[in-house]
Amino acid sequence: MKKYDYLIVGSGLFGATFAYMAKKQGKKCLVIDKRTQLGGNIYCENIEGINVHKYGAHIFHTSNKNVWDFVNSIVEFNRYTNSPVANYKGKLYNLPFNMNTFYQMWGVTTPDEAQAKIDEQKAEAVAKMKAEGATEPRNLEEQAQTLIGKDIYEKLIKGYTEKQWGRKCTELPAFIIKRLPVRMVFDNNYFNDTYQGIPIGGYNKLIDGLLDGVECHKNIDFFDLRKDINKNEDGTFTLDASSNDALGNDLYSFGEVVFTGQIDEFYDYKYGKLNFRTVKFEQDIIDKPNYQGNAVINYTEAEVPYTRVIEHKHFEMFGQKVYDCKKTVISKEYSTEWKDGMEPYYPVNDKINNELAEKYRALAAKESNVIFGGRLAEYKYYDMAPVVENVMKLFK
Ligand code: FAD
Ligand code: UDP
Repeated sequence: MKKYDYLIVGSGLFGATFAYMAKKQGKKCLVIDKRTQLGGNIYCENIEGINVHKYGAHIFHTSNKNVWDFVNSIVEFNRYTNSPVANYKGKLYNLPFNMNTFYQMWGVTTPDEAQAKIDEQKAEAVAKMKAEGATEPRNLEEQAQTLIGKDIYEKLIKGYTEKQWGRKCTELPAFIIKRLPVRMVFDNNYFNDTYQGIPIGGYNKLIDGLLDGVECHKNIDFFDLRKDINKNEDGTFTLDASSNDALGNDLYSFGEVVFTGQIDEFYDYKYGKLNFRTVKFEQDIIDKPNYQGNAVINYTEAEVPYTRVIEHKHFEMFGQKVYDCKKTVISKEYSTEWKDGMEPYYPVNDKINNELAEKYRALAAKESNVIFGGRLAEYKYYDMAPVVENVMKLFK
């Protein structure tokens, strides 16, 4: 019998951070992942010397010093600052909405002029809402227009958001857009957080560091093993892996299971399936050192089918290094509705899905010796830093 304290299902940031902290406390973990590589959605593939974010561009950002110090203790982070640019019908605008954007949009050059323009447009939106009897924004369109006005909403928000979510802005919850900062200074830094960056050498270094010395097995789906897992009277689990070559046909015992897969799948979809949005990546290797001059360009008009183009080298190569690497890799991102067999990326936080998720979470809360954590198991739109923070809290 091989004995472990934890069976960790999923080697993404939640599972890997959990394994690291458990190991530090002298616990023994077995990590399994159904993919052919470790790291979940932060896994990168090296192509032409460039770390390509295979599951979507990832920028680490946080204001929590403990989280920042923790990840930097595993791998040092670089000084990358996210400053996406929006392309609307061939004209470029800086993001997030700041004095540069207001100048590009209206030609205003001072904060007072910009504020006057925004106030004028906000007033129109508020009056329209009130005329319809609403006191609070009822959807994303109203939220955006009362936050920043019609011009920016129509050129930089509407098309992008409707492509990303596949739903009309009038049918989306207001909170999605609250994530976008509005600034009255010339500052293109997308995040308000104190710390941000990309691991030097790529995200795989972070995952490798977290999983160093931990037994990991790829290509194993928890749901293929589950029929061979029994819960013992003391709450621990026994796995008879006699039909699993990768696990060496042995007998295993686990004190607890840490589950980071889909919560609805864990319960055999008994209440129904949770919805996700997914992204299709169209990747190209281009025979020139610099394709678009920025890591992220958003295409905010409805007519361009993709939402954004990522040029991966700009996350880690700055100055001359961009040109020392002769080729570049780009990914065009197409946002689509998720179907079985696709990667579940963004939880859809509408009423139906939130209520369904709540029912599954209620079942999970009653479970003994199973910890549910991360984006899929909690069905929450977590960034990376909160995922690390949640694991730190568990260990406290
Ligand atoms: P995941 O990374 O999804 O890991 C779950 C793992 O579990 C996967 O490896 C999966 O294969 C495995 N698994 C699932 N089911 C099973 C099973 N049945 N058996 C075995 N293994 C299983 N955050 C930021 O902070 N900044 C960003 O810029 C950012 N950009 C993002 C862009 C996209 C497109 C997406 C989707 C997310 C982004 N995030 C970003 C969020 C970030 O990816 C997550 O917060 C983080 O990766 C969550 O880690 P996790 O371990 O919960 O999930
Ligand atoms: N958004 C937008 N225009 C942009 C970028 C973002 O309207 O150019 C909106 C969109 O609704 C998106 C939300 O802002 O869903 C949050 O975007 P962000 O890039 O912060 O989040 P992510 O998609 O990376 O989770």
